[in-house]
Amino acid sequence: MSKNTITLPPETVPVKIEADICVVGGSCTGVFAALRAARLGAKVVLLEKSNRLGGVATLGLVGMWHSLFDITGQQQIIGGLTFETLERLEKTGACTTFREPTDYYGIRLNSEELTLELDTMVTTEKNITLYLQTSFSQAVLAEPGKIEAIVAEDKSGRFAIRASVFIDASGDGVLARSAGMTMRRVDHPQPPTSCARFSGWSFPKGFSLRQCMDKYREELPDLPGGYYWGMPIPNSQLFMLAGTRVLQCDCSDPDEITRAEITSRRQIKAILDMLRREFPDRKFGLETLPSAIGIREGLHVESIGTLTGEELLAGRRFPDAIGNGTYPVDIHNDTDATISFKKLDGTMRVYRGDQCISTERWLPEGEVLPYYQIPLSCLIPRGAVNVLVAGRMLDADRDAFGAVRVMVNLNQCGEAAGVAAWQAMRDGKGVANVDSAETRRLLKDGGAIIL
Ligand SMILES: Cc1cc2nc3c(=O)[nH]c(=O)nc-3n(C[C@H](O)[C@H](O)[C@H](O)COP(=O)(O)OP(=O)(O)OC[C@H]3O[C@@H](n4cnc5c(N)ncnc54)[C@H](O)[C@@H]3O)c2cc1C
Repeated sequence: MSKNTITLPPETVPVKIEADICVVGGSCTGVFAALRAARLGAKVVLLEKSNRLGGVATLGLVGMWHSLFDITGQQQIIGGLTFETLERLEKTGACTTFREPTDYYGIRLNSEELTLELDTMVTTEKNITLYLQTSFSQAVLAEPGKIEAIVAEDKSGRFAIRASVFIDASGDGVLARSAGMTMRRVDHPQPPTSCARFSGWSFPKGFSLRQCMDKYREELPDLPGGYYWGMPIPNSQLFMLAGTRVLQCDCSDPDEITRAEITSRRQIKAILDMLRREFPDRKFGLETLPSAIGIREGLHVESIGTLTGEELLAGRRFPDAIGNGTYPVDIHNDTDATISFKKLDGTMRVYRGDQCISTERWLPEGEVLPYYQIPLSCLIPRGAVNVLVAGRMLDADRDAFGAVRVMVNLNQCGEAAGVAAWQAMRDGKGVANVDSAETRRLLKDGGAIIL
């Protein structure tokens, strides 16, 4: 044994459960994968390392989904479990309107009430076994590309889960990576952000948060630069601000993620200090910090298909399309304070802070792209026998990822992965051989809008 390493003794762990399908990660992506497979009759086990379901939408406080309609507002293009979940939230006023087209700012929802609804949706589905506070740790391979079992860890220690098919919905691609799938690092991943909820968030007319930050920047050097957005939360007096950003951060590196958590919280503290100095007679409360910093982009899995920006923006119709979207190509640069939006209405704008610094058209005047599509192939890792991915680790280039990375799109990927996993399990086929025409049919039968 060298001085810098420790050799662990060989380990035998109990098999806690055998399932048809095992889903790692419990954001809406993972939950929707589990629900779809379970509704088709599969025995599903879903594990989530935190104490709740919802991923960035709950743990990260990002309660914003985008429009379910095409950009002309004529046609609904997203349905399925996204719609079903919003219908549940609507009953208590926990989301804003989704039954008609929304503007860019989309559908606001209450993340805490989303947590409660996801709890109900999962625990009332008899075919799902849920393990919270349970962390995936290792894939055990039967052969290259084929997982026999995974090892996970909970309060009792390490144990194994056997399944026929596995879905990686961890965002970070922890399962795919451990199973030996090829992962791609990008040169300039979009920067992570910690959101925060504040009370007392009201300002005199004409107040600009950006100008105020510029005024205090020397005094409070931790104040963030760049683009920010925020929203009042339905059924709440609080305001959610997505105002921080940590540049040049590799969120797959444990030291970097520690830096990002601390840096972004310092930025939140600086915003609070600034507001208290600027408005000494007002009361601002910091009410909630996220349980984990929101990661926009990490590693991508090399899949049998890579979605490219060129295809996406040409509105290519894929024979294996499993989802539709309208969210723009939205790229937060990680080297400076700019952000660019290539919208489906044909405009392309670059912002520095909240100032638009350039506007042009990427489509000829008068032309728009009503919606784009997401193919199943970008969820099937190359060389995988019984592993699918769903979530931000999917295979897309920089532009395509800038668009598909939002939740209404990834929710649809989750549903598709759940259905495709069930097909692979039923037929005893490799995931690359799943009949995508049937995937589309089954998704549609289950309420998805398949075009
Ligand atoms: C600040 C910010 C603002 C954004 N704004 C919007 C917006 O307004 N609208 C929008 O739609 N999208 C927005 N996005 C993008 C979107 O939120 C994310 O791309 C999306 O949520 C990613 O979903 P996911 O399922 O891939 O991953 P996540 O939501 O990150 O979920 C992964 C889940 O897997 C779990 N997990 C990870 N590792 C393990 C493990 N080892 N064992 C068990 N479980 C594990 C995690 O705890 C988590 O619950 C934003 C992102 C950020 C960061």
